[in-house]
Amino acid sequence: MSEDLVLVINSGSSSIKYQLLDPETSAVAASGMVERIGEAEGGIEHKADGKTVEHRGPIADHTAGLRLVFDMFAETGHDLASEGVHAVGHRVVHGGEVFYRPTLIDDGVVEAISELSSLAPLHNPANVAGIESARELLPGVPQVAVFDTAFFHGLPAAAKTYAIDAKVAAAHGIRRYGFHGTSHEYVSGQAAALLGRDPGALNQIVFHLGNGASASAIRGGNPVDTTMGLTPLEGLVMGTRSGDIDPGIVAHLVRSARMDIDQVDELLNRDSGIKGLSGVNDFRELQRLIDAGDPAARLAYDVYIHRLRRYLGAYLIELGGVDAITFTAGVGENSPQVRADALAGLTRFGIAVDPDRNTAKDRAARRISPLDAEVAVLVVPTNEELAIARAAREVVAAG
Ligand code: AMP
Repeated sequence: MSEDLVLVINSGSSSIKYQLLDPETSAVAASGMVERIGEAEGGIEHKADGKTVEHRGPIADHTAGLRLVFDMFAETGHDLASEGVHAVGHRVVHGGEVFYRPTLIDDGVVEAISELSSLAPLHNPANVAGIESARELLPGVPQVAVFDTAFFHGLPAAAKTYAIDAKVAAAHGIRRYGFHGTSHEYVSGQAAALLGRDPGALNQIVFHLGNGASASAIRGGNPVDTTMGLTPLEGLVMGTRSGDIDPGIVAHLVRSARMDIDQVDELLNRDSGIKGLSGVNDFRELQRLIDAGDPAARLAYDVYIHRLRRYLGAYLIELGGVDAITFTAGVGENSPQVRADALAGLTRFGIAVDPDRNTAKDRAARRISPLDAEVAVLVVPTNEELAIARAAREVVAAG
């Protein structure tokens, strides 16, 4: 039965998230996560048919982790190696200038993804490790790379160009690439479907608010701007990432605080954002601290909302008006407070949130603006795994 199913793999530096699913029906046959690869005590949680199987013990590398996962698949009724799967879809973070559509993987593609590691040193090597492991364990199964940057490949020149020395930029691949593209593309498509409108006729703003966070402005199905840039550090305030800062801060820290460049990178990526301001990076904990009267948590929240609204304003003007504003990912889907605060006081722009719709306990894609509001405000659950599985199936079908 596995032949219709696509295995989607999202591998990070010390983790692998995976899902076995039917791209046609979106039904998930199994899913799980390998954690703490390379550490003294690793772990795997594998879910299939309502049951959870766990593994604890050292997991040397990505191949060892996937091998254990395949054993767990076999235990729970999906012997991937013997029954086969239709394809494996890999999430790859950085496609650089080279990759802008889902791509069938061969040796040359693996090498090219590896060469792009200088642009995404935390992500691309981990993605390559996942690809190599899956190719080794499932020889003969087509493997497809789906790039986080691809949707934004065609950003207009004015939006993708940094105003730095053009020769330096060209020599080092410095431009705005954008990330979370699979999610922005999927969610904007779902938003158009929910409204029963042709995506080609809509101006949309999408807020993907998870641990990482980004916004995009989309005209007629094509992105015209997005908040993330050369790396996923630019733009909105995130769980642990600063988002936009004055680049002069980097030089100041190196000169005055005597930090080296790796320390600065670590500071901005892992110890900044909500965590840097409040001490916690999980939005639910932030909310608890705010409810308990913690002023640092309150400030973190206010900075987060301020940055969201700044981009909302920018994108409204860039698009010259908007038909739909959509919230997605962990915070976007689950925090009515964030949605209400992000859009408060904008009725003169046709933007409003209906309090009852906004707080309704509903997991499905839905409209949260009053029905007579000019702008549709939506909550649409993202599903990057499904989008990757569908892209992989299409690439395989096209041969
Ligand atoms: P993601 O990266 O999309 O998995 O989103 C993770 C973020 O979503 C974390 O900051 C979580 O705290 C946040 N999140 C998850 N559930 C909720 C919730 N019910 N209310 C507020 N934030 C949530």
